[in-house]
Order: sequence, then C-alpha cells, then structure tokens
Amino acid sequence: MVTQYKNLINGEMVATSDWLDVVNPANEEVIGQVPACGADELDKAVAAARAAFKSWKKTSFEERQAACMAISGAIKENAEELYRLLTSEQGKPHAQAKGEIYGAAGMSAAQATFKLEDVVSEDTDTRLSRTRRVPVGVVGGIVPWNFPVMMAVQKIVPALMSGCTIVLKPSPFTPLTTLRLAELIADKVPAGTVNIITGEDSLGPLITGHKDIDKITFTGSTATGKKIMEGASADLKRITLELGGNDASIVLPDADPKKVAEQIFWSSFQNAGQVCVAAKRIYIHEDIYDELSQAIADYAKTVVVGDGAEQGTGVGPIQNKKQYERVLELIEDAKDNGYKFLTGGDKDPSGTGYYVPITILDNPPEDARIVAEEQFGPVMPLMKFSSEDEVIARANASDYGLAGAVWTSNPEKGVEIAEQLETGTVWINEYMHLSPFAPFGGHKQSGFGAEYGLDGLKEFTYPQVITIKRDAVTA
Ligand code: NAD
Repeated sequence: MVTQYKNLINGEMVATSDWLDVVNPANEEVIGQVPACGADELDKAVAAARAAFKSWKKTSFEERQAACMAISGAIKENAEELYRLLTSEQGKPHAQAKGEIYGAAGMSAAQATFKLEDVVSEDTDTRLSRTRRVPVGVVGGIVPWNFPVMMAVQKIVPALMSGCTIVLKPSPFTPLTTLRLAELIADKVPAGTVNIITGEDSLGPLITGHKDIDKITFTGSTATGKKIMEGASADLKRITLELGGNDASIVLPDADPKKVAEQIFWSSFQNAGQVCVAAKRIYIHEDIYDELSQAIADYAKTVVVGDGAEQGTGVGPIQNKKQYERVLELIEDAKDNGYKFLTGGDKDPSGTGYYVPITILDNPPEDARIVAEEQFGPVMPLMKFSSEDEVIARANASDYGLAGAVWTSNPEKGVEIAEQLETGTVWINEYMHLSPFAPFGGHKQSGFGAEYGLDGLKEFTYPQVITIKRDAVTA
C-alpha cells in the first residue's frame, strides 16, 4: 500500500475520505496519496487561519522570526529525507533537489530577518505623521510543480513575518514533500498560522473566491494568473502573481565560446528546462554562432537524461504527462516545419517515464512555436543575430518579461543592454541567481507585484498612516 500523506489544519495532521494519487515521473508508479479537499476542508483551514490571525498579528518581530527559523531548521535537519522525496515526485536529479531543499532553508532564514519599520513622514510643531505596515489577514498561497518546496516557503515565511496567517495549496502533481514538511513543522508554529491542504486544480478557484481570504499569492502559469486576477476582483483581494516567462539570453561577440558554452547549457536545462527563469531563447552573435552552437551541442552530448534518483543523471524526466505531451508537440511542430536540430528530435520517446531527449535547435525562425512559446522542457532554440538594436528588439518582442541574460567580456556593455530589456531581472554572465534581499517579479504578463526583499514583504501588508495634530485639543 502506498503512503498516505495528511494535510495540516489548525495544528493537526488530518485526512479526508477521498485521495489523489501522486506519480513518480521517472517510472509512472504511484508513490503516494494525498487528501482530495473541497470546499468543506478549505472552510476549516480558513477558519483556523482566521482564528489564529487574531493573536498572530499582535506578535513581536522576534516571535515571528523564531517560527520562521524553526521552519528553516526543520528543513535543514531533514534535508536528506526531503530531497529524496522531492526527486521521487518532481523528477529533478538528487543534486538539484538537494539545492532546492537547502535553498528553501536558506531563503527562509534570510527572509526571517526582514523587518518593516515605521516611517515618519512628518514631524513638525504642528503634526506627527507615521506610516506603519499592518498585515492584510488570511493569505491563500497557490504553488506550481517545478519548485514545490521553495515556492511553498517563499509564501509561508513572508506571510508569517508580516503577521499574516496562511492556507497553502501545493500543486496536485507535487504535494508530498510539502506535506512531509507540514508534518515536521506542525508543532513548531502556532496552530492555525500555517495550514496546508491538497486537492485538484479545482480547489484553486475556491481559494481565490473564498470570502474570508484577504490576499492571494500565486506562482504558476500566466493563463492561470489571469483567472486568479479575475476571481480575486470580486472582493478586491490583494494579489501577487509570479507567472511564466520566455527569457532571452544574448551572447555578444566578445564572449568566449569555450567559457560560456556549459553555463549557457545549464541556464536552459536545469530541472529539465522547467524553470520560470530558464533561458528559453538564446541569441548568439553571428561572429561566434557556429563555434558556440557546436560547443553547446558537444557539451549536451555528455549529459545523461534519466531517473533523477540515479547517480550521474543530469536531466530528469518532465514532471507530468500533460507537460510531457506538450513539449513533444512543440518538437513535432519543429520537425514538421523542417527546422534543423543540433541534438534531439530524432529519438522515439516511447517507454516508461516522461523523458524527452535534450533538444537544441539550429537557428529556427522567430515565429516558430518553439521560440515564441514558453517551452518549459529540455528544449533550447539557438538563434543568430547581427546587431545590438536588432537583438534587443527581438528579445523584447514578447508578452512575457520575467528575466534575461547578457554574456560578454565587457560588463559595462552588458549593463547598457540590460537597461533596455523589458524584464524584472537581468543577469550579466550568470543565470538564475535569486537573492532573498532583492525583489523578484515579472514585467508585462510575467507577473504582478514581487516576492523577496522588503518589497515582497510589503505585499502582505497594508500601509496605515497615523497622524497626530499637535496641541489641537489641549488647552
Ligand atoms: P499552473 O498555473 O497550471 O498551476 C499552478 C497552481 O495553480 C497549481 O497549484 C494548480 O493546482 C493551481 N490552479 C490551477 N488552476 C487554477 C485556477 N483556475 N485557480 C487557482 N489555482 C489554480 O502552473 P504549473 O503548470 O503548475 O507551473 C508552470 C508555470 O508556472 C510555468 O508557466 C512557469 O513559468 C510558471 N512559474 C513561474 C514562476 C515565477 O516565479 N514567476 C516560478 C515557477 C513557475
């Protein structure tokens, strides 16, 4: 019998009568079951969060920090168990799963240092005016399947630090590690402050529309983000949306192909390309195009695609069947259109597990689906460019605006280009570095608001301005 993982509601681990199966994408075996919650369980979780909010909102910075550090500690102390479980449900290789688990512990500890101080805006003989930040209330957190643990704590920790309480819904594809974490923290945070419930996608709109939830913090696709914005408009819930991306990397002619090939490869193929900020369009200057594209393709041939639990695997399976079929459809479309492949595109992907061969395309046109759409899989289109103005225009010709990168031996030139890109983050000569101290958020249709840093924390609060008119009523 497979292990059944319970939900966390009001400090207790609880089950329901209905269960959802969770599948290992490496072999398609059912590895666990989680409660299939509906409106009743959601009501209970929200009621617990509402009750806990009454006292949690009055807690000191130190009390909030202690709870968040306990979460960070629980992750670190149980890291090995958690990263193995994460690989089995998400598919990413052990080394990358370990990176996510330790990253989640580190992010939690860093965000537990954030304090929103009052700001005095007027201090004169006539008036004292100060702005304080008050927690919005009960938060609904909804997370995707690509970084389930990191995304969970990146919602739980700022909620707690701001004085809010939270009801979190993991993706139905990857709920196991989050529920194991729930069990580990159940007695480390006050009952009702953190509630974690699982269900199908249909549980999402119930959260968005719940009358007693004050804010939604969501990470997932742009299509779902739009539905959330619509649902939240009924009672003007506060929202933070971290959505999709189609990030461009620009490689200038002064970059050394030998030095950058491997890094550019991993900027696209981490987590089998299922990263919101993966490089999804690589623009290479024509002077170094042939040499660099060959170096990337040569390196790709050394990387093993396989079960993330096996030593030596560099790229694991796609996380779920629906996404697997979508990525294969994009590859088929590229084949039907006669685009040239440097690697991949030729293997029959039948068999057990959602494996897709590493696929690199040689200069497909800008309007190819594999370029214009977010692939979210182990697919990398390399494109040639000849001038800076041209490549900036091509990089910006997207509804998305999440992140991007410039590779160059001249960092000042990199900054000059970065400042012309319409994205929330731009890296020069690296990729995917997210600091807990800097705001992370998308421009255009990649998001709304930000996470991380004080900007991220503020999104869980309302400003309240208190003004004292001096000597107005005293004799
Ligand atoms: P998704 O939008 O399908 O699902 C995300 C979550 O939303 C899941 O928990 C799902 O159950 C829930 N959901 C589904 N329908 C809903 C609805 N109508 N109302 C409320 N909730 C609903 O996304 P996904 O496929 O799990 O994740 C992949 C996407 O997430 C990609 O587009 C990726 O770029 C994006 N992403 C963005 C970031 C970021 O920080 N910007 C990070 C990771 C992933």
